[in-house]
Amino acid sequence: MKYHSFLIKYAEIGIKGKNRYMFEDALVKQIRFALSQVDGEFEVSKESGRIYAKANGEYDYEDAVEALKRVFGISGICPMVQVEDLGFEELKRQVIEYVNQEYPEKNFTFKVNARRANKQYPLTSEEINRDLGEALLEAFPGLSVDVHHPQVMVHVEIRSRINLYSQIIPGPGGMPVGTNGRAMLLLSGGIDSPVAGYMIAKRGVVIEAVYFHAPPYTSDRAKQKVVDLAKLVSRYAGPIKLHVVNFTEIQLYIYDKCPHEELTIIMRRYMMRIAQIIAQKEKCQGLITGESIGQVASQTVQSLAATNEVCTMPVFRPVIGFDKQEIVDISEKIGTFETSIQPFEDCCTIFVAKHPVTKPNINMIHRSEEKLAEKIEEMVNTAVETAEVVICQ
Ligand code: ATP
Ligand code: MG
Repeated sequence: MKYHSFLIKYAEIGIKGKNRYMFEDALVKQIRFALSQVDGEFEVSKESGRIYAKANGEYDYEDAVEALKRVFGISGICPMVQVEDLGFEELKRQVIEYVNQEYPEKNFTFKVNARRANKQYPLTSEEINRDLGEALLEAFPGLSVDVHHPQVMVHVEIRSRINLYSQIIPGPGGMPVGTNGRAMLLLSGGIDSPVAGYMIAKRGVVIEAVYFHAPPYTSDRAKQKVVDLAKLVSRYAGPIKLHVVNFTEIQLYIYDKCPHEELTIIMRRYMMRIAQIIAQKEKCQGLITGESIGQVASQTVQSLAATNEVCTMPVFRPVIGFDKQEIVDISEKIGTFETSIQPFEDCCTIFVAKHPVTKPNINMIHRSEEKLAEKIEEMVNTAVETAEVVICQ
């Protein structure tokens, strides 16, 4: 195997002091989790401002890179060769061998970029750059040096051992999950909410999810689809605790007591209320939805305001200003699209009125909800207490 290890780069802007340790520790934890899904055994360590993932023996290189590309907080993944420090003459040979293995076509411009963490090393960085550059030119006459825009930058990091790398595979950016609190995602089987969860997790937030299930109006397959989506999001966000709430009784009760054109809004207000109760129990600080202004009748600004009225927690709506196509593009990129478009009913689609209100009058909504006074509180409590928990990973 060519590479035994990866050097992990992360954006350091704005993370200093105590926050830096928190950031690095969370990143190490997430890298461990991501690599635990890959064939092979890995050791992830933090050494003097660097994070390394080293393989013990054989491993699946492609899968390891794919897994690392999903770890928020990583800005670059550098497949690396680590060699022993056996003196400078030996280093020349090692670097020539590295370039020889790495680049079958020897006709590019390059630059050597040496860093000495080991200040005892007998040569300065400048001398190392110059002498290794010369050695490479001599070994491969097709190469030439370009110090400003080299096609290949050969990084040589001199520590107790020596790191050689020249590829930087872009990571997803963002912040490591676990550095920015916890929020509850309202996850339906659609396209938008998995994308919303991904976007908030990318900012370092641990996410849990709640799904409102309405059997027998929604099938077990609809529920399985949501579990599958949570698993897909968990590839980025880490394990997701999914709360499956049985919403049937509440939906039927609303259907029975309230004007049908207000059904969607009132239903959505109860979803938010229940999500918020579970979120509080789980010590979440916010809710997340996949709402986008104007996408459907329940997402006009007036409808969003009516839904939002029942929330005391902040509601994060990361796709609020996106066009559908923009959301679809992200869902394709993160691999949730194909699952999202499987044709299973979600609970909203069954109870939708022919002409739902698009500009709900909040006083009328309050009056309609009063008609639920007799049983709704108990029903909400039951829904919360009987929620089923599925760990998705
Ligand atoms: P999505 O594509 O995410 O399903 P949508 O376009 O179908 O969204 P709505 O059905 O109006 O829009 O739902 C808006 C948001 O409300 C969803 O993005 C999701 O966050 C939440 N939501 C809707 N239905 C459910 C459900 N059955 N369980 C949990 N959350 C839901
Ligand atoms: Mg939906």
